Parts: sequence; C-alpha cells; structure tokens
Amino acid sequence: MAKQSRYYGSGTERALFMLSRGTCYAPPCKEPVLKMAESGTPRVNVQIAHIRALVEGEARYDKNYPEKLRNRFENLILLCKPHHTEVDSDLWVEQYPAEVLLRWKAEVEGGGLGDALKNVPPLNGDKEFEGIIVKSVETARLEILGRSTN
Ligand SMILES: [Zn+2]
Repeated sequence: MAKQSRYYGSGTERALFMLSRGTCYAPPCKEPVLKMAESGTPRVNVQIAHIRALVEGEARYDKNYPEKLRNRFENLILLCKPHHTEVDSDLWVEQYPAEVLLRWKAEVEGGGLGDALKNVPPLNGDKEFEGIIVKSVETARLEILGRSTN
C-alpha cells in the first residue's frame, strides 16, 4: 500500500461520525457533520483530520508514532474545514499539539466506546458490528435532520 494512502476503512469513518455527537470536534464549534444540500440530500460537512500527521513535514508529524496507526480511528478526528485549516496551519500549529487534539477527541467521544475502539484493528468483514454502527449513524442522521426514527 502506498505510504500516503488516506484510506481509513468505512468502519473507521462511520465510528467517527457516530461518536462525533453530530458536530466538529473542536470546542465549542457546533458546525454539523452533515448538512442538507439544496437537493435535499445530506452531504458531509466535515473533514477527517490526523492528530499526528500521516507524512513527514505535515502538522504534528511524530516519527515515533507507528505508521500503521496513523490512519486508525485512534489518530483521527472530524473537523469542519475552517478548523482543519487552522490546526494544520504553520501559523497556528504550535497552539494545536497532538495533546490538544487528543483532549478534543476524548471530550467529544467521552471515553466509553471511543476507548473500546482504540486498539481495534480496521473493520474488515465484521458485518455484525459494522451493521450496528451503520444503524447508529443512520439514527443520528435522522435526528440531525429532525425526523423521527419511529
Ligand atoms: Zn469547527
């Protein structure tokens, strides 16, 4: 696999959306993770951000952080575009060390399932668990859209 691959696995993305509580991870930002397009279709309104950079030269690169963990759930958060730009910017990066982003992640995900998922390998073929996450994301989506799930 290419070193710069940004493939996270659909389970990892779903877990982030499910645990985001519906907004950008940066406090106190309330930018929703999904927004309605004019067509009436929800569209993704956040970006996946690395806590420690995937490649050298990018924000918060840590050569001691194992490469195989860099695209894992534990190293990823969801940020709105302005916050993603800000935390990765050369101008601001010193204000946003990995410790700050890890605190945001812990606060948003509230330990619990986030901790439980921390060392779980990428979801490959665990259909039952994946199904639970898909259902949770769908429920959260309907709540965001203000529709009853009943
Ligand atoms: Zn934000």
